Amino acid sequence: MIDWAALDEIEAGNNGWRSAFPELSTNYVPGEGDNPEAFIIGEAPGATEDVQRRPFVCSAGVVLRQLMALANLSADSEGLLEPNCWLTNVVKFRPPKNRNPTPSEVKAARPWLMKEWEAVGSPKLIIPVGGIGLKAVTGRQHISILKAAGKNHSYRSAYTGHILHIWPMVHPSFGLRNPAVQSLLEKDWEALGAWRIHGGER
Ligand code: URA
Repeated sequence: MIDWAALDEIEAGNNGWRSAFPELSTNYVPGEGDNPEAFIIGEAPGATEDVQRRPFVCSAGVVLRQLMALANLSADSEGLLEPNCWLTNVVKFRPPKNRNPTPSEVKAARPWLMKEWEAVGSPKLIIPVGGIGLKAVTGRQHISILKAAGKNHSYRSAYTGHILHIWPMVHPSFGLRNPAVQSLLEKDWEALGAWRIHGGER
């Protein structure tokens, strides 16, 4: 169940810290999805997302949504699947010239990301897409997305006491620039799909 009222408070909270970062766009790009079995976290909106106010609607986003379908995951009902995950970004405002969010922006956004995870029902499968999401989720600054990607990392959350499954993925924009990476990405998302079929948990 999604707590839509809590998501409104999260939007207000994000707009609160944003005023201290005048470089960021003022357009809030909320997460989207429904019935989440997974919580998928990108980095920050780009130009297309800023205009449309939807996450992952740029060319990398089109690729991501195709990759998600390989794992039987969808955030919208435009494809063959009904929505069954929540797709969002660490930072909800576009940074200038599509630069990565800075560590201080991530630090300010992180508590609201955790509240968002709770508001959408605390899905046990968390998929950081790219290094920024992985750092935000783990709180570790020196963790390598390339080493961690494509496999499940289970641990008991000190915060909720639940076993969580963190399955990091390389960002699809990396695949767009490099066809060899694109086929690795497809294998990683297929492996996630197989894990979900063979006993992966919600
Ligand atoms: N678009 C998003 O919404 N997030 C990203 O991380 C990249 C593109």
